[in-house]
Order: sequence, then C-alpha cells, then structure tokens
Amino acid sequence: MGHVIGIDLGTTNSCVAVLENGQPSVIPNAGGYKTTPSMFAITQDGKRLVGHLAKRQAITNAQSTVYASKRLIGRRFDSEEVQRAIDVTPFSIVEGPNEDVRIEVSGKTFTCPELSAFILREMKRVAEEYLGEPVQEAVVTVPAHFNDAQRQCTKDAGKIAGLDVLRILNEPTAAALAYGFNRNEEEKVAIYDLGGGTFDISILEMSDGVVEVIATAGNTFLGGEDFDRRIVEHLLAKFQEQEGIDLRGDAMALQRLKDAAEKAKCDLSAREVAEINLPFIASDDSGPRHLSVELDRATLEGLVHDIVEGTLKTVEQCMQDGGITVDQIDQVILVGGQTRTPLVQNRVAEHFGKRPHKGVNPDEVVAIGAAIQGETLVSEDDNLLLLDVTPLSLGIATFGGHFARLIERNTTVPVCKSHIFTTTRDNQSAVKIRVLQGESETAAENDLLGEFVLGGIRPARKGEPEVDVGFDIDANDTMTGKEQSITVNATGTLSDDEIQQIIEEQELYEVQLKE
Ligand code: AMP
Repeated sequence: MGHVIGIDLGTTNSCVAVLENGQPSVIPNAGGYKTTPSMFAITQDGKRLVGHLAKRQAITNAQSTVYASKRLIGRRFDSEEVQRAIDVTPFSIVEGPNEDVRIEVSGKTFTCPELSAFILREMKRVAEEYLGEPVQEAVVTVPAHFNDAQRQCTKDAGKIAGLDVLRILNEPTAAALAYGFNRNEEEKVAIYDLGGGTFDISILEMSDGVVEVIATAGNTFLGGEDFDRRIVEHLLAKFQEQEGIDLRGDAMALQRLKDAAEKAKCDLSAREVAEINLPFIASDDSGPRHLSVELDRATLEGLVHDIVEGTLKTVEQCMQDGGITVDQIDQVILVGGQTRTPLVQNRVAEHFGKRPHKGVNPDEVVAIGAAIQGETLVSEDDNLLLLDVTPLSLGIATFGGHFARLIERNTTVPVCKSHIFTTTRDNQSAVKIRVLQGESETAAENDLLGEFVLGGIRPARKGEPEVDVGFDIDANDTMTGKEQSITVNATGTLSDDEIQQIIEEQELYEVQLKE
C-alpha cells in the first residue's frame, strides 16, 4: 500500500508531510526547504515555474507571477474580497463564466483550482521524489472558515493534480491532531491560526483518542499579507513625502516594496529595528531615486494593531459560541507563520491569561496533522475519532429575502437535517430553492452555494403544499447530496423536461417558511 501524504495548501507557503514507521515528518523539497512558496509563474519564454523558482523571479516578472490565489478560490468575481484583491495585485484578475474568477498569466487564462493544482502537483512531486514511489492519496487542509464552494474547488484542484483527496481537513483541526499525537491528556485546547491569508480560531476538546471541535470561527481574508500591505502603504507614503513621487501603479516597484515589507516584518520578530533599502526604485528628470527607511517594531505594531485586535474579537465570538471561558482553556497553540510577530504572541497570551505552547512549529504542524489523519483513514485506525464542526450556517432563501437556517454553524459533522417549506402563491407548481451559507439574516448577504428548481407540485392553495428540504454535510464539510422530495401534494410524475418547461414558463417565487 502506498503512502498517504498530508498537504497544507497555504496562501503563502505550502508544506507536505508523511507518516513513516508511525512517526510523522515534513518532507523537504529539492532545495532543502520544508515549505514551498504557493506561487506560479510563466516566464517570458513560456516556461512554467512553481514554488521557489516562481518566487525568485517575481520582481522582474510581477505581472506573470501569481501569489495568494487561495484568497480568490471559490469566490464570485463581484465579491468584495475579489474586488479588493484586484486593486492590489500586479497580475490580472478577470471575470469568467458564471461570475467565476479567472487569472490571466502571459495571455493564458487559468481558473483558481487550476492554479492550486499547480502547487498541489508540486507537493506531490516533492513527496514522490523523497519516497521514491508514486503517491496517489492525500489529505488536503483548508482554513476552517472556508465555505462549501471553497472546499469543493480545493477538492477539484486535487483531482486536477492527479490526487485522490481522501479528506478535506480544517487547518486548526490538523494542528490539534499533530499536537495531540501520542499525548493522552484530557484537555481543552485553543488553536490560534494566523497564516499568510487567513485567520482561524478553533476550540477543541481532546481525550483518549477523541478529538472534538467545540467551536470554530475565522476570517478567510485576513492574514500576514494584510500586515505586509500596511507596511507597503507606510513606505509609499514616506517615499512620496520625501521624494514627491507616487509609486502606486508601478508594478515592479510595488513588488519590490512588497518583498521588502515582508522581509522587514519578519526581521522585526527578532529585532527592534529593520532597515529597508531599495536603490533605484524610481527615477525622474533629476536622476535615480532610492528608498531608504528605518522601520522599528513600535511603528509596525501601530500599523497592524487593529488587525490583531480584530482577531481577538473573533476569538471572543468563538468562545461564546462554544460556551467556553478563557479559564477553561488548558493550552493555547499558535499556528501559521504570522504568529511569530511578538505583538500577536503577546496579545494572545494576554487574552488567554497564559503563554502559548511552544512545542509545535507553526509552519509544519498543519501538514503533519494532515498526514496523521491520512494514515488513520487508510489504516482504519479506530484509536482516533475526529469530530469536526461546520463553520458556517447552512440554509435557504425564503420569501422576502430572508435566510432560513437549517444547520447552525458549529454543528458537528457529518449531519443531516431537513425542514418543511411551502408555497407563497395559489397553484404554484414549482419553487426555487436557493442554498446559502453564512450568518446574515438577509439572504443576499450570504454566500450562494447553488440553486435548483423543484417542480411537480400539485395545484393547491398557497401554504398548503409541503416541501421537504434536506441537507447532508459529510465529514469533509462539503455537501454531498441535496435531497428533494415533496411529501404532500406531490404528483411525483413530472420528468426533468417538464420541470425545465415549468422553469421557462413560470415566474418563480421563493419559498416561504411554513409556520
Ligand atoms: P503561513 O501561511 O502559515 O505559511 O504564514 C505565512 C505568513 O507568515 C506570511 O505572511 C509571512 O510573512 C509570515 N511570517 C513568516 N515568518 C515570519 C516571522 N518570522 N515574523 C512574522 N511573520 C512571519
């Protein structure tokens, strides 16, 4: 039997791990690095590059180098997040069919799953080179707060990369599995996961081989990249003040600034002051101009303070959802490269009233947890039981644009729930079911996962027919089957074509919650 690999498909970096002789280990790539930049590029002569090779040439080839595409996966083109990304990325983000996001690189158009697939294929290759055998099966991690579309797209990326994705696992849950590996204590653990592009907090209870997620919360558009952006804004303002030149709109200068900002941020985790020197960043009639700025830790902390406080508000919400108070938490574990920033560590420590656990490597722990879960799945090891939750409420749009929740967030998965709905008009023969995920009471403010039309309702007065809508969420936290059955008043004899005809002929109304 071949090995199952665990892949942490990160916004900024990715990591792959495997369990060998019962011990998990991270697999280094050909360059000896344990993490690989989640970057893809096409060079001027048409060569495709992934990982470190793509990163190394990013400055001189900014428009054809894609980074942080995980921030776009499974999102609609007109979403706020995508529009925000368009403003700040040097590569071209365009609209595809069905409001999908496409990325143009050197005249070629790619979907987000394709771009993630490039990274996954690279991680697969790294593992195959190390193990000396083909690898087929993998567990791939995603931020706990990813919705159904983002999870499905990640699964598709795995398929494109030639992997059989056994499970989509939440990153903080993976981290908890790694932390709990070979530990038999009963404890409540908080996983604070701040990576390059996403933030998650999960509260878990661990005891005797059972890992149960109590609650999770997060933000899939907040991470280290936002810290970098704040520093870039600061540098742009400083340069404009000193030299009178606005560097916004200069793709190469922006890429250099971004790289320098990230480096300074990382330096400031260990030092009080960082020097940022970018010679020949611009030029005008009076010759070349150089950027030279000193950034100290206090200034950085001022620039990102509100982001860190925002994460703590999310922590509070998660604790409330789980009915847990800080004094009940036994361990706080930091995951994600961005938790190396002292301000993050100090504020988290203050919030929980205890120093975070230092025993795990924040860059590697997620891939290790994924490898552990992979091995458990193939060996059918029943010494480990993992109970995860759905991060977002699932429901449907009802009459008047309201959102009717069928499955509340933080419900343990797998789960199956159903509810009876009815019509809003006399003799209505079809209803449109719009499936949504989110927390707003207003349907339009939540993410639309899909819509379908249920026909064949026998003529009746409004409010009389009963439409039973059921949802299944599997252990991947993806929806597998959408049950549609009309329990009362159904003719049950309409063919798909007839249903299609109804769609065309009839103005459809949203369904209404039956009292
Ligand atoms: P991850 O997604 O977990 O790989 O986290 C990547 C993020 O962590 C990026 O935004 C990095 O800039 C950031 N990061 C990595 N090392 C450090 C460090 N020493 N100090 C601060 N941030 C870091």
